Order: sequence, then structure tokens, then C-alpha cells
Amino acid sequence: KSGFVAIVGRPNVGKSTFLNRVIGQKVAIMSEKAQTTRNKIQGIYTTDDAQIVFIDTPGIHKPKNKLDDYMDEAALSSLKEVDAVLFMVSATETRGAGDNYIIDQLKQVNSPVYLVINKIDEINPNSLLPIMDTYKRAYDWADVFPISALQGNNVDELLNTLVAKL
Ligand code: GDP
Ligand code: MG
Repeated sequence: KSGFVAIVGRPNVGKSTFLNRVIGQKVAIMSEKAQTTRNKIQGIYTTDDAQIVFIDTPGIHKPKNKLDDYMDEAALSSLKEVDAVLFMVSATETRGAGDNYIIDQLKQVNSPVYLVINKIDEINPNSLLPIMDTYKRAYDWADVFPISALQGNNVDELLNTLVAKL
């Protein structure tokens, strides 16, 4: 089993921390070839029977100029080519304009989009449900995973689900 998974989200929500945790293998040689302006292979998660290639989607953000606009189109087309998308947010921040803009773009994606609420180690467990609710109202997520990329909570469950759906 193998597939491509893109990860998107505002800056500082923990995308790199998550990738560093799950990736066992950097793809130096392969990425030379596969790397384009629109997608950047970050690494591969490998188990005995599965392989997930993670792709970093550079900045989907509100376009401010023509170049932004172009970058956005590019990011969006790479999102349409992958097997699944992880939309990562931080539990420590409320849903904002930056999130809403990305969520709008995600409406054009046909592959399953998973909501990943990161940094749950930083919040009171009681505040998780209200946070989940604000995001659940915005999109029909394939599934929702509260995680801590830093401490590892629930990361295996997320990976197992991605592998199972490949
Ligand atoms: P990116 O911009 O989305 O790639 O975010 P980074 O991975 O660079 O993380 C931004 C900051 O958030 C760093 O200081 C990380 O250490 C911190 N961070 C990432 N994940 C977690 C987490 O699960 N819990 C906590 N408490 N901090 C985190
Ligand atoms: Mg990063």
C-alpha cells in the first residue's frame, strides 16, 4: 500500500513538528526530481506493509498579489492530486480568517480531508469539544484527530487511519 498525503495549515500550527515525528526516511535523491514549485516531498512514513509520502503544500493564504494568486492555484492543484489531505490547526488558537480561507479552498478537493487539531497538550481537556465544534461546522471532515505532535498523543491512530484508507 502506498499513497500521497498533503499537509496544510497556517504557520506555526505544528506541521513540521508532526512531520519530524512521523518520518523515518528523508527522500534526498527522489525529491530532487519530484520537487516542483507546487509540491515538496517532506519524507516518507514507512511500515512493513505501507508507505505514505508526505507533501508540504507551501502557503495557501489570502492572495495579496498576482504571485500569491499563482502560488495558490499551484497549491490547490497539488491538493487535488493527493490521496488524502491533513488540515492542521492549533488547539491554542481560535478559528480565524486564515483557517477559513484554507477551508474554502478545501471545498474543491475530492480526496478525504482530515482535521488535525494539534497542541492538545497545551489546553484544558474540557475546551477540546467546543474547539472541535467550531471546525465541524465549517467542513465535512473525513475524520477529526486531536493530537500532540510534540508529545505524540494520538499520532499513531491518525497514521493507522491514513494507512487503512489507502
Ligand atoms: P509549522 O509552521 O506549522 O511547521 O509549525 P512548527 O512545527 O514549526 O511548530 C511551531 C511551534 O509550535 C514550535 O515551537 C513547536 O515546538 C510548537 N509545537 C508544535 N507541535 C506542538 C504540540 O503538539 N504541542 C506544543 N505544546 N507545541 C507544539
Ligand atoms: Mg514548518
